Amino acid sequence: MRIRTSQFLLAAMLMLACMGVLYFMRTVGTKGMGDVDTWALICSAGLVVFYVLIRSGFSLRMQDPSLAFFQMLFAIACNAIAFVIAGNGRGVALPILSVILMFGMFGLSMRQVMLVAVYGLALFGAAAVYTWHYVTTDEPAGIFVAYVCMLFIVLSATTFLTWRLQQMGAYMRKQKNQLALALDQIQQIATRDELTGLANRRFMLEKMREEVQRAQRTSSPLLVAMFDIDHFKRVNDKYGHQVGDRALQVFSSVVQNNLRANDTLARWGGEEFVALLTDTDVSVGKTCLERVRVKVADIAMSVGDDCLKMTVSIGTTPHRIGDTIEKTLLRADVALYAAKAQGRNQIVCIDSEPTSMAGRSEKSEQRGKP
Ligand code: GH3
Ligand code: MG
Ligand code: MG
Repeated sequence: MRIRTSQFLLAAMLMLACMGVLYFMRTVGTKGMGDVDTWALICSAGLVVFYVLIRSGFSLRMQDPSLAFFQMLFAIACNAIAFVIAGNGRGVALPILSVILMFGMFGLSMRQVMLVAVYGLALFGAAAVYTWHYVTTDEPAGIFVAYVCMLFIVLSATTFLTWRLQQMGAYMRKQKNQLALALDQIQQIATRDELTGLANRRFMLEKMREEVQRAQRTSSPLLVAMFDIDHFKRVNDKYGHQVGDRALQVFSSVVQNNLRANDTLARWGGEEFVALLTDTDVSVGKTCLERVRVKVADIAMSVGDDCLKMTVSIGTTPHRIGDTIEKTLLRADVALYAAKAQGRNQIVCIDSEPTSMAGRSEKSEQRGKP
């Protein structure tokens, strides 16, 4: 509404300035001038009507609520009348016509601009003929030919400029869409894991920081779970890397489908995954993770004549208020190590501080594993 009103005010100021010019011309005694008062009254009444239509919200029912097209038609009609009544100074109407047409360059469609051009040609042509025949004037006939030439120049130049402007606008819109698409792709690449389509580690850490802050504000429980597929190396060794990749995709979708929609699952690296279960306490979380464990054990992926089975070990721990997310992740890792050590295909939950905080990676290093 603010933009529409300011556009209207700009057009109204132009109209008022034109009225001022006509009154000035009358004051300085321009020869052959008609009834400027009635003309000014018609122009003012039109302005009031447009103002009411726009400010009342009535124009919102129209395709273009700024009524730019209709304002232009009205302004051109007023301008054509000004041409008739401006006596020997009627030449001033033509530059005003070009200004009116410039307004349309920004808001109108190409079709509307063409319509306005034809309308302007018809109206000014009629005004010129009317003036030539019915208005007593001492202007030479040749000046009317010059007016009509000027009319053609103004109309064709503004129509051409509008076409160029619209072409540039379309090009810029296309570029804007391409940029938005590229930005979307970059965001996808930066936050998603390519193989599984899950969130990646970077996204998950960001999400965890957000959720930790939220949990601190609302005192709602937050559970972190770390998954590691059991003996996955054997899958690769037996079936090859491509089948291993497919198995990772199947595993991801099974886990994702068995978590709630507002839980976040991320590929942490290799065949390890991390889930963040919001508003979840340990007992509810364990039930949910047990369902996931069973569903993973149910996977039967056919590879040729063979059937690929998988199990997963899960380490889980609640996030404690005041802890860093890194500390919670380390606890989940320790729990996962315990699940592996206790025979795999199971869930271990560390609810309290473990006696040793060495996770699998550190213990692997101790054992000399990479
Ligand atoms: P554990 O039960 O102790 O976890 O045994 P594991 O064999 O799963 O453990 P380990 O960490 O030693 O091996 C993980 C294997 O996962 C090694 C690697 O070849 C495989 N792997 C990691 N990332 C990918 C991947 O993107 N695609 C495929 N196909 N394999 C992967
Ligand atoms: Mg592993
Ligand atoms: Mg593994």
